[in-house]
Amino acid sequence: MVTIYDTEALEAIRRRTAVQPHRMKLFRNALFKNARDWDAALETLPENARADFARSVDFECLDLAERHDSEIDGASKLIFQTRDANLIESVVLRPKTGRTSVCVSSQVGCACYCSFCATGMMGFSRNLTTAEILDQVTQSNRVVRPEGRAIRNVVFMGMGEPLLNLDNVFAAVDALKAAPLFNLTGSRITVSTVGIPDAMNRFTSEFPDVQLALSLHSARQAARERLMPQARKYPLDELREALVAATARGKVMIEYLMLAGVNDREEDYLALENYLKGLSVHVNIIPFNEFAGGDLRGTPLPERKRFAARLKAAGFDVTLRYSLGSDIAAACGQLVQRKQKESVA
Ligand code: SAH
Repeated sequence: MVTIYDTEALEAIRRRTAVQPHRMKLFRNALFKNARDWDAALETLPENARADFARSVDFECLDLAERHDSEIDGASKLIFQTRDANLIESVVLRPKTGRTSVCVSSQVGCACYCSFCATGMMGFSRNLTTAEILDQVTQSNRVVRPEGRAIRNVVFMGMGEPLLNLDNVFAAVDALKAAPLFNLTGSRITVSTVGIPDAMNRFTSEFPDVQLALSLHSARQAARERLMPQARKYPLDELREALVAATARGKVMIEYLMLAGVNDREEDYLALENYLKGLSVHVNIIPFNEFAGGDLRGTPLPERKRFAARLKAAGFDVTLRYSLGSDIAAACGQLVQRKQKESVA
């Protein structure tokens, strides 16, 4: 069986079944542009080719198990079940201004164990395959299609560390950019990382046009290590070298989650300003989404505003982010599967 994302294999089936290239284009448009279901896509093919396609092509590898729509904003959490019965989550975001986006998972669980992140509490199970990553986008597109929307942005900010699943994430980004498939420009794709210098270097040389986001959260080594155990392996000075290389190709997004008394004090601000000096970055100030079991507290909005204003005055591009989907536990760091926990309990 081949997947719908394997253009070479599909081309071989097209030749074997003598389907005209323009019919193949209709088939692909049905799947990727118009977000139709499998039966509707098959109908675009000549009748005598349908059985062969149906037999040879694995249409989807994820089952949409649950959908939760936020009552307070335009977020929907989608819970998917993999064939080996793991649960993963994607979040559809419909910001009032801006493009419909999907936040995808790249792994089942995560091995980074950041202290502020709910996914870390699940531990790590396995990497997602390329098709499992892409299916989240395809199925999200089907969810928003009846609303007259289409997914225009893909962010790798769901469960998992994308740069620890490098091969599959690279192949997924290739497919997201490919004209016959999702046809997104690089600037509409964001890959967010805890900061793994070698992988960041590989990423920026392979995809100079794709948006890279770095979860920095502190520019002080000791504080960062407490928040993100991976920081011990990849110290801030090494990380900065990778940032210099990445920012030479385009603006990098810096994510800075604000935690009271941890990374929001005067010395934290000064370290951050100094660390980012001279780099082409866009700083995103993120509110903390609390989750059960954690004892960290978020920095109140007025202080976040002051912190952001100072960075702006120092010459940086800054966005003060508000959280979407907090009522459905879809906000960053909350992508932990209640269902899975229930079934264990
Ligand atoms: N592993 C990647 C991508 C997944 S997390 C990374 O670390 O970048 C996506 C973003 O959500 C990261 O910036 C992460 O630090 C942030 N995040 C995690 N837990 C959060 C929480 N409880 N509140 C707010 N943001 C959180």
